[in-house]
Amino acid sequence: MEAKTPKISETVIRRLTDYLRCLRHAQIQGKTYLKSTELSQDCGHNPSIIRKDLAQFGAYGLKGTGYNTKELIDNLNKILGLTKPREVVLIGAGNLGTAMIKYPGFRSVNFKFTAAFDNDEQKIGHFIDETPILDLKDLNSFIQKHLIEIVILTVPASQTLGIIEHLDNHYVKGVLNFTSEILPSRKNDMFIHNIDLAKELEVISFCMKNCLS
Ligand code: NAD
Repeated sequence: MEAKTPKISETVIRRLTDYLRCLRHAQIQGKTYLKSTELSQDCGHNPSIIRKDLAQFGAYGLKGTGYNTKELIDNLNKILGLTKPREVVLIGAGNLGTAMIKYPGFRSVNFKFTAAFDNDEQKIGHFIDETPILDLKDLNSFIQKHLIEIVILTVPASQTLGIIEHLDNHYVKGVLNFTSEILPSRKNDMFIHNIDLAKELEVISFCMKNCLS
């Protein structure tokens, strides 16, 4: 299978990341091949949707055998741009930012927190595990030196826009925004993704009543 990259929707990309998680799990369990029906049971998507999604990238399972697990993982990694380790910078070394840096799951999928930035002098110069907390004033020079493309925002909502405008968008191309300030998905030539767990709870609240039957 070749890692062709046709124009794909964000919905499909989200499903690909689900497949990748299930495939990694299957690989740990020693499964060399996985059928779309098995993948469906593991990740909750319809087998025909799985086959259609993967066929877009030239991946066809062998009849009766399924997909080669390792080959599919390698190709999904290529499609999703996960073959090389990515250095990430976090802005706002508070409760949420600290918890994220301490979470080991990012490194296992090739994302490394190179530094955290804050404007609190009490925090600057300290470390969260091995990640240094640096002065926000040095953000762009650090981004330029380390070719940082991804930034995570965990500052108070009121600070969000100021920081977005300040980011060197010649280098930074992706922003994961955890603040409650909702940003457009494309701004200043950067792709922005807003994450709000309260929103997810609202969805759960609705689905408990309406989606189970
Ligand atoms: P916090 O107060 O513990 O941390 C905020 C940090 O940002 C502090 O270290 C502060 O010094 C720093 N900061 C403030 N202004 C700054 C600036 N201009 N530049 C750099 N650093 C700056 O807050 P928290 O509990 O960690 O929450 C952080 C953000 O995440 C808030 O906006 C909060 O609403 C949001 N949040 C989102 C979710 C979610 O589901 N998306 C969940 C929890 C918190």
